[in-house]
Amino acid sequence: MSTVSHLNPSSSSIQINPHISQSASENRNKHISNAVGLAFPWLTGLLLIAFTPAEIIPTWFAWNLEMLFVTLSSIGLGIGFHRHYTHHAFKTSQAGKMVLGIMGTWTMQGSITSWVADHRRHHRFADQQFDPHSPWADDNGPITSRLAGWWHAHVGWKFKGAVSDEKRYVPDLLKDPVAMFLTRYYWLVAISGYLLPGALGWMYGGWQECATCLLWAGCFRAIVLQQFEGIANSLTHLFGSKVEGSQDESRNNMVITFVLLGEGLHSYHHQNATVAVNQPSKFDAFGHMIVFCERLGLVWDLRKGKPATIAATPASQARLTGAVTI
Ligand SMILES: [Zn+2]
Ligand SMILES: [Zn+2]
Repeated sequence: MSTVSHLNPSSSSIQINPHISQSASENRNKHISNAVGLAFPWLTGLLLIAFTPAEIIPTWFAWNLEMLFVTLSSIGLGIGFHRHYTHHAFKTSQAGKMVLGIMGTWTMQGSITSWVADHRRHHRFADQQFDPHSPWADDNGPITSRLAGWWHAHVGWKFKGAVSDEKRYVPDLLKDPVAMFLTRYYWLVAISGYLLPGALGWMYGGWQECATCLLWAGCFRAIVLQQFEGIANSLTHLFGSKVEGSQDESRNNMVITFVLLGEGLHSYHHQNATVAVNQPSKFDAFGHMIVFCERLGLVWDLRKGKPATIAATPASQARLTGAVTI
């Protein structure tokens, strides 16, 4: 056990790596990759509007395809990247892992290995220094402004946070052929989330429908998922109720739960991170989907836990000590 007071590469004090990369080039490459992933749907969407016959008002087909691909991408991220790959909340076949991994990669929010490493570090240091995307602290210590904290957790961390140590956080995925395949061909798989709805649009109605479906089920879908991830990282650590015994600032927020299909039950999740269903009595759509898939034989060995209860006293503020023990 050692106490880390801060991380500052220029500091002359003793530096301890709390599971992040000290390589400037590795961190810079991650920031560039994040910037490309964030900008891609915006720029592609503008190009489609400017130079193709894509319709800004979606056709009936494009709108339904957009809703379908938002749902599939959300399932890939929430059930695939989060509950299966990060927390091993259930088991599934190699084909199931592949399908979930592909749909999660369509969100263009980083490869499975980097996404899972960041999320596991988030649970490891929840709302303290070295949590990669907390609204309360970053790699350098506490964030005192709520607005700055919200911005950091929503998107800012992608441009200034350090790379999580994958050897430490995802040794299982580094040996997983499906995860490594999807990581190796990350950009190809991510772009297939644009090409597939475009191809479906072309088959349904030719080039104009192709461009409209690319715009709506490709670009707009990815932009929606960017916001979903930002909400999951920021607002679920700011607004809502906490469960008894909570040691961080994660919150349960029913409005966010309906939008994010169960991921807003975040205080329950931090209390029992590996369970397949956050809280059986609540609207945990992802959890109920997993149970349904278990009945179909598509998944098995669901992890279960003791239901947590809501804290009787008002939520306390974060333990912003600026130091963690590792
Ligand atoms: Zn969290
Ligand atoms: Zn989690």
